[in-house]
Amino acid sequence: MSVSQERFDSVCARAREAMVLHSTADTLEWDERTGMPIAAGEYRAQQISTLRALVHERRTDPTYGDDLQQLIQECKNEDPHGPVSATAQQLHRDWQRDCKLPTELVERISKATVRGQQTWDAARQADDFSIFEETLGHVIDLKREAGQRLSEGTDRSVYEALLDEYEPDAKVDDIQQVFDDLRTPLVQLIAAIKESPQQPDTSILERTYCIDDQRDFSHFVAEQIGFDFERGRLDETSHPFCTTLGPHDCRILTRYDPHWLPAGLFGTMHEAGHGMYEQGLRPDWFGLPPGSYVSLGIHESQSRLWENQVGRSRPFWEWLYPQTNEAFQSQLDGVSLDTFHFAINTVRPSLIRVEADEATYNLHIIIRFDLEQQLIDGSLKVKDLPEAWNARYQSDLGICPPSDADGVLQDVHWSAGLIGYFPTYTLGNAAAAQLFDAASEQIGDLDELFARGEFRLLLDWLRERIHFDGRCYSGSELIERATGSPLSATHLIKYLKSKLEPLYGIIES
Ligand code: ZN
Repeated sequence: MSVSQERFDSVCARAREAMVLHSTADTLEWDERTGMPIAAGEYRAQQISTLRALVHERRTDPTYGDDLQQLIQECKNEDPHGPVSATAQQLHRDWQRDCKLPTELVERISKATVRGQQTWDAARQADDFSIFEETLGHVIDLKREAGQRLSEGTDRSVYEALLDEYEPDAKVDDIQQVFDDLRTPLVQLIAAIKESPQQPDTSILERTYCIDDQRDFSHFVAEQIGFDFERGRLDETSHPFCTTLGPHDCRILTRYDPHWLPAGLFGTMHEAGHGMYEQGLRPDWFGLPPGSYVSLGIHESQSRLWENQVGRSRPFWEWLYPQTNEAFQSQLDGVSLDTFHFAINTVRPSLIRVEADEATYNLHIIIRFDLEQQLIDGSLKVKDLPEAWNARYQSDLGICPPSDADGVLQDVHWSAGLIGYFPTYTLGNAAAAQLFDAASEQIGDLDELFARGEFRLLLDWLRERIHFDGRCYSGSELIERATGSPLSATHLIKYLKSKLEPLYGIIES
């Protein structure tokens, strides 16, 4: 049997049409989060939910599903990782997933999570978990129900079925292994850093850095590392993100803090990393699996790689520091490159995940990964969550949140029904380190290139190994193909130790 061109074209046309609607809703969301007048909120919510409903209708259409099933049969003799077969398989997979959840459940989840986020916000303001408890319980129950439906007829657990939405095909056991391997060496490294008498002077980053200057500087850095401003924009928002509105339209958003230089600078590099991944996807396949990002973990690997492996490296600053010094003359006068580089690599256990450094960050994630699995399997009751949370912060990070607002209420994710999302952050960190090692081996001396402000070879390598394939391979297959081995914790541990131990004067154990 061969592939019917007519059927393939018709399926693609319908998927692309759904993408037109989807990206229109995203455009409205981008506007909502960048400059929309506050009073426009209610009507904007109507516009977006109408478009999202149309997308859902298109994507669950039964005749579309029949065509996809037929197409899969016809693709039996095709290369499973070629664009035609991958399109059929991945669209069919999306269709099945969308159809497994009845519209009334999707609506109940949507209502519960809108309410969840409002109640979460109120509870956080009041610093009182009990306000949020019942609503969170409701969201967890609904997500468990969704997970049960999604896992039906598969060999996946309920949690794994939820995780699948963000990290397709990922196995909980594999993630657990990576996290277990990370945890002990991380805890040891962080403890050694805490005890070291050699500590950075971060006050130099807290001086007043005028926002206009930061804006110009961040734009310059994003452009130098390879973000294409002819196919994208950089704007400001309160919670930074990256969104793609069309095949040649990627928007990245950052936030500047006049008293904390790293927020805007590394925030921009992080989002530019996400943006360069999106810009590296094939535009002729926009809206179809070969032109779509594969998973959140892989997305995060791209942002972290540019933010950390590149942006916090010594060679990068050998190139950029003279220009930084010129841009922020009064703030950095007399501050040496060594002092600056140590300051931007501060490691210090803290309560808030989004402010955490690249070493302790992963402990924040491991705690959330463990707790959300227990919430879904019922072994942890929502009412006992604050206590469990605080106990883990005490045992893993050696600090105990003095309040719910700085503890269990700090993240919006669970209130929004995002369960199975957190682990993708640390998967991204581990993948970034592993990809960077492979790139160094294959390209040659990256340090020497960075010290000259040359990033093109690294970006091209990522384009070829990760971006180009879109969803034609799974995230774990891409990592294995690019690096020669499955994802492991080894590279991240090695990277953190080799950078941080010398900075903190730690004698290797
Ligand atoms: Zn990110």
